[in-house]
Amino acid sequence: MKKNARLLYLLTVWTLFACPLSFANTTHPDDETPPAPSPSVTYVLSMPEPQTHYFEVEMQIKNSAAATNATKNKYVDIKMPVWTPGSYLIREYAKNVEGFTATAAGKPVLSDKISKNTWRVFAADNDLAIRYRVYANELTVRTSFVDIDHGYVTPASMFMYVDALKNGLHRVVVQPYKGWKNVATGLKSVAGSVNTYEAPDYDILVDSPIEIGNQRTFTFTAANVPHTVAMFGDADYNEQRLAADYKRVCETAATVVGEHPCTDYLFIVHHIPQGGGGLEHLNSTTLETTRYAYSTEANYKSFLSLVAHEYFHLWNVKRIRPIALGPFDYENENYTHMLWLSEGCTSFYAEYILRRAGFHTPDAYLGRVASDITQVENQPGTRVQSVTESSWDAWIKGYRPNENSGNTTISYYSKGSVLGSLLNLAILAGSNGERTMDDLMRYLYQEYYKKQKRGFTDDEFRRAAEQIAGRPLNDFFTTALNTADPINYNAYFEPVGLQLTNVAAKAQDGYLGAATTVVNGKVTVTGVRRGSAAYTDGLNVSDEIISVNGLRVGDDLLRFISGRRVGDTVNLLVNRAGQLRELPIKLSQNTLVSYRLEPLPNQTAKQKALYEKWLFIK
Ligand SMILES: [Zn+2]
Repeated sequence: MKKNARLLYLLTVWTLFACPLSFANTTHPDDETPPAPSPSVTYVLSMPEPQTHYFEVEMQIKNSAAATNATKNKYVDIKMPVWTPGSYLIREYAKNVEGFTATAAGKPVLSDKISKNTWRVFAADNDLAIRYRVYANELTVRTSFVDIDHGYVTPASMFMYVDALKNGLHRVVVQPYKGWKNVATGLKSVAGSVNTYEAPDYDILVDSPIEIGNQRTFTFTAANVPHTVAMFGDADYNEQRLAADYKRVCETAATVVGEHPCTDYLFIVHHIPQGGGGLEHLNSTTLETTRYAYSTEANYKSFLSLVAHEYFHLWNVKRIRPIALGPFDYENENYTHMLWLSEGCTSFYAEYILRRAGFHTPDAYLGRVASDITQVENQPGTRVQSVTESSWDAWIKGYRPNENSGNTTISYYSKGSVLGSLLNLAILAGSNGERTMDDLMRYLYQEYYKKQKRGFTDDEFRRAAEQIAGRPLNDFFTTALNTADPINYNAYFEPVGLQLTNVAAKAQDGYLGAATTVVNGKVTVTGVRRGSAAYTDGLNVSDEIISVNGLRVGDDLLRFISGRRVGDTVNLLVNRAGQLRELPIKLSQNTLVSYRLEPLPNQTAKQKALYEKWLFIK
């Protein structure tokens, strides 16, 4: 059953490609010449000097002249992707490429770089070998890295492609650095060959990162699927507990759609000094977390939330997907309005899965939902940008933030997660507790991924949601989703007997509205909140605040402000680009909110029943 599901995916990819290849079984029945062998691409990946942070790639292209039109054109174009799916930023991976050379039948041939990411190789031969080096010294989930300890490959940043061959077989032969014993990847191993892997097409290769080194691995089975966890870097964890908790998260996640499409699944985990994140793939994911992720309950919960998020992506975005998100154009931005669904609702599900698996109590879950709403409502950009605009502009805004981003944008993660909660509640209430967002996910998976073998449009998504809810969802789709207008949250929470209450203390103190950092006694403005006193009266990002009302500021600015009333004026002396200037600022009202979800008085039996169904209270 699962094997069939994978085959189905492959068929999907084949069907969706716009330019069918001419090499497969195209000989006329009367033609007695045997069919030409299929073209193939093999990459030999080596890392003989990992301390220099270089990978070496030999790309062997076989039987390709007919498919690539090289016989006629006398050239073949070899391209490097400019971005990697799941991370919506043009990263210009070709910037790390050097030493590009080409040979045909063992003899050097000329090549010329004709665009930022395209090399034109002048040869009409069937077989080519391309060699190049890739500088890899950025350890993130969207880039490649190699040093004396391990190697990590983001395939889009490592493996070039030929357009006409993208739908055909791609192989990778990994030659690990001496002494490195483990290769972990979601790619299928080629039987009988050491460290040799294959993908039925380039898209699947791009979707399969590779970890190489002496990483520790452990395994578990969840939803009848074997799972492997490959752990790079030291960290203090209890492997038994970790495996059990992974299993619990994965099994609960699998109940949402009710069908697991993978034959196996791999977690690659990098332990890093600070930060974190993940990138989803078809049957694997790479997670980055700190070495301290397992040290406190709060850290551990947020790590499990990352696990749940990336894992749930194997359904939501890798298979249940907006129409623009696959097959991908690797040379340009791929635009969609629906990252709020693909990312935000995945974040919603991560917490919902932790609730269902028992990691969050109902109260803790309500706290998460209220805190998401607080975060969204405290960002001035939420009144400027809709979440669909935020999705569309991820390439130039979300992934390229500046000092004004908080004032002008809203994250499709945070608002998308809120909207996931609201849509779930709208479906629950609309169907009188018969259905939840799970039913919408199941429908999209069955109808578009499995049956129609494609992604869905904005309109198709809306129709599906309204069909599952059993009623029009005008407020959700027009106001909440497509505008920056305020949302009537309580209309969504009333059916489960809750109300959203702002519990922020009534602020009497005057409010400045500036964020600062302090380095060696120097207080510098890092953000100015739209509409605040600082914004209106002209404090700028990068201003160094020297004094307030004649008193030298050297650490916490707030203590110079607190206790003053709304309407009081403070005189700031600032250093702006080397010039001192006096800035009188009239303190404004603090409008920051802090939300809590509280029970409505006199809840009805129906509200209580929906509440229990919503939060999986048995
Ligand atoms: Zn995600």
